[in-house]
Amino acid sequence: MSVLDKFRLDGRVAVVTGGNRGIGRGIAQALAEAGATVAIAARDEERNERAVAELHAAGLQAFAVRVDVSERSDLERMVEEVTRTAGPVDVLVNNAGIGFHADALTLPDDEWDRLFAVNLQGVWKASQVVARQMVERRTGSIVNIGSMSGLIVNRPQWHSPYGVSKAAVHHLTRSLAAEWAPSKVRVNAIAPGYVKTEIADIDLPEYRHYWVDEVPMQRYASPDEISPCALYLASDASSFVTGSVMVVDGGYTLW
Ligand code: NDP
Repeated sequence: MSVLDKFRLDGRVAVVTGGNRGIGRGIAQALAEAGATVAIAARDEERNERAVAELHAAGLQAFAVRVDVSERSDLERMVEEVTRTAGPVDVLVNNAGIGFHADALTLPDDEWDRLFAVNLQGVWKASQVVARQMVERRTGSIVNIGSMSGLIVNRPQWHSPYGVSKAAVHHLTRSLAAEWAPSKVRVNAIAPGYVKTEIADIDLPEYRHYWVDEVPMQRYASPDEISPCALYLASDASSFVTGSVMVVDGGYTLW
């Protein structure tokens, strides 16, 4: 077996939450190119179908499942639907996430709750529902998309709930990795730096100094610079890696 074979996912089934755009779309492409059948799991059905059509046009295997990761019943239906359509889930990428700038003195409780319902509870619930199947089958890889915002405090914008949610995702990753390692289910996370997608107002001139000039590599990333790391963690290439948080930030957290 060559080393590149270890990155192959032929015959495996992967779910990518928030796979219809941005970083998740890039990860869905990478996993499908490696041979997986990929379920695009997000709320906007039109965008889900568009992503699936693009993957099909590239000769890749994919299908859409409408899911709101904050709803346990949606996640349970998702597992049933994916299992019925393609087989049990081998890879879960918990990528769906939201973010907004927030002044700590004025942020209403319901906004805090809305963010945690997706960024933390969504990861918790999806992992729990999918891992029941993985633990029973004694195989599986879960990849959580955390953030460098869970390691440092960003500036100049304030967004404490976002950073706290991502720090919690990193620790949830480590906790679940330890708990499920004996069952051969691996759990890892990626902590990206600034990536050009809809969630990040990266091009705003008032942020350029902090978000681009202060990055040692002096640029932001594109989603296809995150997806190879997700493929590594999803595949047997990382067979002895669990509980890791891999930082992919162009060096931002070095200083
Ligand atoms: P985007 O806003 O471009 O995409 C977010 C995706 O999540 C969409 O596909 C959206 O689809 C989906 N989503 C949002 N809410 C839900 C929900 N309740 N249920 C299911 N799906 C949902 O974001 P990015 O691609 O930039 O971010 C992806 C992940 O990477 C997030 O977790 C983010 O925090 C993280 N990240 C991003 C960075 C960046 O600089 N961009 C840096 C570090 C981390 P739909 O609306 O159809 O549901």
